[in-house]
Amino acid sequence: MAEEANPFESLQEQIDDAAAYLDVDADVIERLKHPERVLETNLTVELDDGSLGRFRAFRSQFNGDRGPYKGGIRYHPGVSRDEVKALSGWMAYKTAIVGIPYGGGKGGIVVDPKEHSEDELERLTRAFATELRPLIGEDRDIPAPDVNTGQREMNWIKDTYETLENTTAPGVITGKAIESGGSAGRVEATGRSTMLTAREAFDYLGRDVSDATVAVQGYGNAGWIAANLLEEQDATVVAVSDSSGAIYAEAGLDTQAVRDHKDETGSVVDFEGAEEEFSGEELLTLDVDLLVPAALENAIDEELAREVEADVIVEAANGPLTPDADEVLTERDVHVFPDILANAGGVTVSYFEWVQNRQRFYWDEERVNEELESVIVNAFEELVEAYESHDVPNFRTAAYVVAIGRVAQAFEESGVFP
Ligand code: GLU
Repeated sequence: MAEEANPFESLQEQIDDAAAYLDVDADVIERLKHPERVLETNLTVELDDGSLGRFRAFRSQFNGDRGPYKGGIRYHPGVSRDEVKALSGWMAYKTAIVGIPYGGGKGGIVVDPKEHSEDELERLTRAFATELRPLIGEDRDIPAPDVNTGQREMNWIKDTYETLENTTAPGVITGKAIESGGSAGRVEATGRSTMLTAREAFDYLGRDVSDATVAVQGYGNAGWIAANLLEEQDATVVAVSDSSGAIYAEAGLDTQAVRDHKDETGSVVDFEGAEEEFSGEELLTLDVDLLVPAALENAIDEELAREVEADVIVEAANGPLTPDADEVLTERDVHVFPDILANAGGVTVSYFEWVQNRQRFYWDEERVNEELESVIVNAFEELVEAYESHDVPNFRTAAYVVAIGRVAQAFEESGVFP
């Protein structure tokens, strides 16, 4: 097996690929390849048995030229400084391509949350929030959920921040529970933008997503909602997977029933409506119309990319393809619609949540979904325009051409201080 790609190097390669098509100073491009600052900290937390646990944690503030840093916090044993730096950069370009007034940031704690009690996770989260307090704020840096974090963790961070600051500031964090200032539609937003991107992509290619067979890798929040909304569009979701394996049914899986099964048993495998089971890796090479990677980075490398049989890939995860895989798929005419557009629904509805928090005025789900649809459809049109007018090799490069152009313009308009 080839050595695992470093996601930060992948990000820098993606930026270089796009820079070749942009009239932006090399010095400015260099600035846009590195985070502005990275916090690295060791959190000491009392465990339930009275011993002390020590956890490494990071927050990378990549770029603030277009607004406050914005991006999630993940809990995973594989979190590293370079991974968080890469993810923060992808956030900066994601907010730029959908045109919301934020920069990019990302955080993470090296922890396997499955090995800890709820009390331990609460102490860990509050310890991280205390460390983050000087860096974050409604106009400074606004965290959100990511892999293995959700409303519960966001509420703890909000409460810690507000208690220490002696104020109410729900907009310091997004992805909160509804009664704590969350937005309708936020939980579904990443899966919804994945579905919308797939729908627009098929339409652009002269096809209809309702005729598509679909495989979804990862059945967490993004993957399962994407699968469910694609099923609602009449697509046939033939296969889904999680870290335990993949399940398949030629006539299509009942995505809600698979979700219920996973809630009960902890995984999608052994689902009674499945005809076949195989490894998660095999799912990635199924002969389907649409493949949705919705797990972690580097799911498809160069080797696997040669075996991909799907016509279209829509990335719900961040960074699921290595740059080498991208090259192979471009050569093989597999259309890849990139993460920074396809999964931007999460941060877009985070933006709506923050707007509602600042205004203390809340929208219903219908309005959230309508506004989200118009943001994603507009961004898709801008992507296609860049793809057609710049002679770029693929949609990812087109996306970076648009996004880097916007960040660079904001930087150049503001000038350099001091
Ligand atoms: N973690 C999500 C992402 O990667 C959402 C970030 C946010 O809502 O700020 O886009």
